[in-house]
Amino acid sequence: MKKRLWRDFLILLVLFLGAWIFFIYYPVVDSEVVKESFNDKEKEIKEKLVELMDFKQADSDTTQLLRSLGELKHLVSDKDVQYELYYSDSREINAYALPGNMIVLNRGIILECDTPEELIGVIAHELGHLKMKHHTDQLITTLSIELLLAGSGSTTGEVTKILTQNAFSRDMESEADDFAIKKMKELNISPNYLAKLFKKMYIKSDMVPEFLNSHPGMNKRISKFSQYPFEESTLEFTFDWLKVKNSL
Ligand SMILES: [Zn+2]
Repeated sequence: MKKRLWRDFLILLVLFLGAWIFFIYYPVVDSEVVKESFNDKEKEIKEKLVELMDFKQADSDTTQLLRSLGELKHLVSDKDVQYELYYSDSREINAYALPGNMIVLNRGIILECDTPEELIGVIAHELGHLKMKHHTDQLITTLSIELLLAGSGSTTGEVTKILTQNAFSRDMESEADDFAIKKMKELNISPNYLAKLFKKMYIKSDMVPEFLNSHPGMNKRISKFSQYPFEESTLEFTFDWLKVKNSL
């Protein structure tokens, strides 16, 4: 089953990339019909990916966790980006922004957050990548090469690797950080919450999360968030964060 899904996914992705590259080099072809079929293809890929990787959508009302993530998602919004937030039952301390305006939070990163405000910072950072369309470059430079050459016996683990291995550039990370700071300030959350999370992860994690990737200058990024004085957020949530984490 998984293997077949993977094959379908791969075929769709190749078609999608082909269309994408075509658009880039031949921008003259931008009729509404073509655009529509492009969007349909993107939707199809998303559905395959969600099924293959067993992502759970945050807005669904099924568990305390998904309800809580849905609540955070509604706080972190942007008028230009309609995104979907997903949960992945992966222990890896990571979160990622994917084509099709998807943000995925792993169990590992949720457990690392002592407060929902820290997770809001993570979501805001990923939303920054979507807003600035960083994933477009990421997709073309990596997936096109990796997946076109991939064998048919690939596993979900390999898909995960492909999705996460290509770090965004330092400039892109910096832009996403700036966006996170802006969003957090709008919500009256001190950006220092994110500094706290970054420091914890930097010290204890032997896995390198996407936004603490191998680029140098991590200290600089932490100090960017640290320059804001820490003030306890007064945001109120309908859930008890500790209970949510204990349910994982
Ligand atoms: Zn990032």
